[in-house]
Amino acid sequence: MKKAIYIILFILIAIFFTKDIDFFKNDFYENIKTIENPDDLLVLVNKNNKLPDNYIPKNLVLIDNKYSNNDKYLQKEAKMAFENLSQDARLLGYYIIGVSAYRDYNYQKSLYNEYVKEKGQSYADRASARPGHSEHQTGLAIDVMGSNNDYDLFEKSNEFNWMKDNAHLYGFILRYPKGKEKITGFKYEPWHYRYVGVKHAKMIYEGNLTLEEYLKTT
Ligand SMILES: [Zn+2]
Repeated sequence: MKKAIYIILFILIAIFFTKDIDFFKNDFYENIKTIENPDDLLVLVNKNNKLPDNYIPKNLVLIDNKYSNNDKYLQKEAKMAFENLSQDARLLGYYIIGVSAYRDYNYQKSLYNEYVKEKGQSYADRASARPGHSEHQTGLAIDVMGSNNDYDLFEKSNEFNWMKDNAHLYGFILRYPKGKEKITGFKYEPWHYRYVGVKHAKMIYEGNLTLEEYLKTT
């Protein structure tokens, strides 16, 4: 009798895990499309949409060193917006510093390969983007840190709370929110913000959406 219970239990557990595997199945890095409008403000770069290898944004400009930890570039409109954001935050006592902004194809390639070498491909695919699939290549994305000086711990900083409620007022969205990994393809990244302009950022923020979801509604 006891044996039967164990067998049933075993079957139930087996079903649960098989379901789980199914649940995590996705088509990331399959049916990849090359992006035709890389200069569009709402350009969607993710695991299924790849930038052309040789793509370099035309209007990259240096972020003022007051607001980044060394020479970092963004597209001009995003750079202005980020400086305004960081300056306004500072007036309230919050220190928001850009630690990574535009990254070219080759830089992303070496970054991704480094992750693969150290932690294997499945980890690398969660933590980093393959070359051509990184939003950082658009010059519209920025990773930030707060006054605890560690982007990895940004969520624990006061700056994060401020960013959560104010970034959209400057045109930035939290690009990889918690619980949306299956939509974005990336783990929760409290430090990564994407410039889309104030109008779109506001709608994305108010709708609690990802860029993927928002683009489907427009
Ligand atoms: Zn990032």
